[in-house]
Amino acid sequence: RTVDPVSQAEGVFASIDTLETADPVAVRIYLTHGKSTAKRIGDWFARLGGLFLRMLQMVAVPLIVTSLTTGVIGLGSSEGIGRMFRRTVLYYLATSMLAIGTGLLAVNLVRPGLRVGQVENVNVPSTESESLVDVLFHQLEAMIPANPLGAFVSPNYLSIIAFTIAFALFSISVGGRTKEFVGDLATAGFEVMMAMTMAIIRLAPIGVFFLIAAVTATQGVGVFGSLAWYVVAVSLALGCHACVTLPLILRFVAKRSPLEFAKQMSPALLTAFSSASSNGTLPLTMSSVEERAGISNRTGSFVLPLGATINMDGTALYEAVAVLFIAQLHFGFNLPFSQQIIVALTALLASVGAAGIPHAGLVMMSIILHAVGLPIEMQGVILAVDRVLDMARTAVNVWSDSCGCAVIETLEARDAINASYREQQLNS
Ligand code: ASP
Repeated sequence: RTVDPVSQAEGVFASIDTLETADPVAVRIYLTHGKSTAKRIGDWFARLGGLFLRMLQMVAVPLIVTSLTTGVIGLGSSEGIGRMFRRTVLYYLATSMLAIGTGLLAVNLVRPGLRVGQVENVNVPSTESESLVDVLFHQLEAMIPANPLGAFVSPNYLSIIAFTIAFALFSISVGGRTKEFVGDLATAGFEVMMAMTMAIIRLAPIGVFFLIAAVTATQGVGVFGSLAWYVVAVSLALGCHACVTLPLILRFVAKRSPLEFAKQMSPALLTAFSSASSNGTLPLTMSSVEERAGISNRTGSFVLPLGATINMDGTALYEAVAVLFIAQLHFGFNLPFSQQIIVALTALLASVGAAGIPHAGLVMMSIILHAVGLPIEMQGVILAVDRVLDMARTAVNVWSDSCGCAVIETLEARDAINASYREQQLNS
């Protein structure tokens, strides 16, 4: 049986309502206006913020398709695409492993699970969890959409990416007027979609305000309570990865100023933070990378859609910290090194399998818990703070995709310069 991650996440989160009373903001509004007012205010903020997210969803599929087609046709040959693909995957694997390493270091140093006494456990409705092999095989199946139209309607991003790349590649191989026609059509569509996305970007501050207001109206510092050390460990590791590791890569490999690049990416980063969805943020990530940071469409259109689906540094890091925290709570001691390696590897695969939607990381965690023999119900202890941590890890996910774009753009540009230098030498 396939488990739909969205409905699974909704099932898990149906039970979080009971924790609302622990929130001081909600309690304060409750004391002055009654509980229903707190909920109503939060609901209205969420609905208004939801309008902004709907605009992003509206442009996502046409933007990805036109942009990716233009990009692949611009790459010109399957050899160019192969090289870009290898670089992209290598960057994704390397940064995800670095993120997991940072997470493991933080959780071993802070030892959040050994610092708390009693932690409240919320009953997680038991859902059938898939095995790791199943999850990865489903990703593989998604890359071969039996019904491409269905994939566009769903939308299933991995299927859309795979089909669009195949379509563009075969347009190149058919060549002649067909290739020209497909390229022109995609370029025209891409220009219109980009203009639409740039218009939506102007609404980002208002959208972000409503989304954050909705979260603060229902969740506040009160939910942290005994989970404070766990939140510290996750935040410390996420902060280190986002503010030290990735900026170093940006500075020394991509040769860019990290601060300036972060400013250019700010609409996407803020939207990722407030929406907790890297798929939802994708149109803004693509337009910020291309229009604000000056990265070419051929790189952005290839690296970003793939990154939003498979590269999740923040999620991988969070999975590792959360599982080790749960193990510390459950056993009363740290997992041995060999088990931590298993956590690291499964966290990497789980992050590849996680969808870019809110709470997807939490849903995937059952796989890792299962791999190291921990009871799946233990997930209940971290539910209360998952929304806030989801916001932070999603921003890190999008930040890593953006840095990947900058890195690959620089490497590709260096290759182009080398190639033209060689050509000049041959000619002279
Ligand atoms: N919300 C994250 C994202 O969209 C996935 C996760 O739950 O970790 O990137």
